[in-house]
Amino acid sequence: MDTLGDAEIVVIGGGSVGCGVVHSLCQAGKTDVLLLEKNDALASETTSQAAGLVGQVRTSIERVQLAMWSVKTFSEMEAEPKAKPGWRQVGSLRVALTDERVAEFEQMKTVANEADLETEFISNDEASAMWPMFDFSPAKTVLWCPSDGYLQPNDLAMAYAHRARKKGARLVTGVTVEGILTANGRVTGVETSQGAIACDTVINAAGAHAWHIAQMAGLDLPIFPVRHEYFVSVSAVGMHPQLPVMRVPDASLYLRAEINGLLLGGWEPKALSLRPDDFENGQTPPRIEEDWDVVGWFIEQIAPLYDQAGDLGVRSIFKGWPTFVPDGKFIIGESSRLRGFVIAGGCNAHGVSGSAGIGRHVVESMLEPSPSDYVRSLNPDRFLDSEWDAAEAQTLAKRIYETYYGLGH
Ligand SMILES: Cc1cc2nc3c(=O)[nH]c(=O)nc-3n(C[C@H](O)[C@H](O)[C@H](O)COP(=O)(O)OP(=O)(O)OC[C@H]3O[C@@H](n4cnc5c(N)ncnc54)[C@H](O)[C@@H]3O)c2cc1C
Repeated sequence: MDTLGDAEIVVIGGGSVGCGVVHSLCQAGKTDVLLLEKNDALASETTSQAAGLVGQVRTSIERVQLAMWSVKTFSEMEAEPKAKPGWRQVGSLRVALTDERVAEFEQMKTVANEADLETEFISNDEASAMWPMFDFSPAKTVLWCPSDGYLQPNDLAMAYAHRARKKGARLVTGVTVEGILTANGRVTGVETSQGAIACDTVINAAGAHAWHIAQMAGLDLPIFPVRHEYFVSVSAVGMHPQLPVMRVPDASLYLRAEINGLLLGGWEPKALSLRPDDFENGQTPPRIEEDWDVVGWFIEQIAPLYDQAGDLGVRSIFKGWPTFVPDGKFIIGESSRLRGFVIAGGCNAHGVSGSAGIGRHVVESMLEPSPSDYVRSLNPDRFLDSEWDAAEAQTLAKRIYETYYGLGH
């Protein structure tokens, strides 16, 4: 191709995951990388809508370590003079309202200890001192993680792009990938809206379009977009950007301050999902109308802890189609069905916070002679080695969303 030229590695998709993968590749010394984004700007689809929460307290040690790698990366990026991700390490509160949840938090704390992640059970009074507008009297316990926080998802993508460009990677917008070129069981290039590009490796980081890109390579992967939304209120008493992030899993909610307003979102029990073939490659996923019933449900759920919730004025609603897969795990690595075809997707709504860790695992899957058991467990072949039923897989993927804060999730 005249204008773009060929590349060793082509990354499809310029959201947080694609930009994070390019950044990780460059850090690992792979700089002959070309990222192609179909829209006119990076981070203009799902990433642009994300709340930017970054939580490290998880139920498995591998997931804690992945999130810790992201936090380390964000802290390093924020410390640099230019192109910062807007990372605020304000800490997080995880509030338990039931005895079962207390038992889960104790288990999570054990996992955090194993991973060397600092966490601490704090009293309701200590929690109240951090969020004075909230009534913590219904809380059975509160788990505090001081190194958690939040960032600005668009700024993160731009910060990755800035660093990758400095190392020589090329990130180009307004180019749609329309086909995967192969010969003798391996990738040889991509067909795009601006002609063919030769490459050895293609990385599919196309978010809600990851299914379409995999289909072009002859792979059928169960990646389902599930609608998600949250709202930001108008200025509310006591809100300021240094408040810790809060999660109330028994109420299925997360929240933080957004400047002087409240950002409140959650996982409604009846989710709305799409089949990936409901829209086409090259299109944006279907437009989402504001669902005020869901907003009302968030407000009802938080009211026992925050009696002013009903008086909040809603400034804006953010919404999008993050992707979910039936087992709730990332899909990362090269498929044995097509050499040189690597997936970085199935983010299960962790694609911003997880992006640095995902990038690191993509690199490990590509460059390490023997990747860890965890990284191998994320390989796309887990869905290609057996038959799966589309309707059943969609129900399971939707269930991952609906039980996002379920016990043991
Ligand atoms: C309301 C909401 C709140 C969220 N909150 C959080 C949060 O707090 N923390 C968190 O970690 N995650 C959160 N998420 C999830 C997070 O947004 C996603 O996991 C993440 O943005 C996925 O990034 P991505 O790069 O995979 O996808 P995207 O950002 O969608 O990027 C994929 C890109 O691929 C491009 N593309 C597609 N097809 C082609 C093609 N054929 N050729 C070229 N380019 C193509 C698209 O245009 C798009 O820009 C939230 C999501 C929503 C909707």
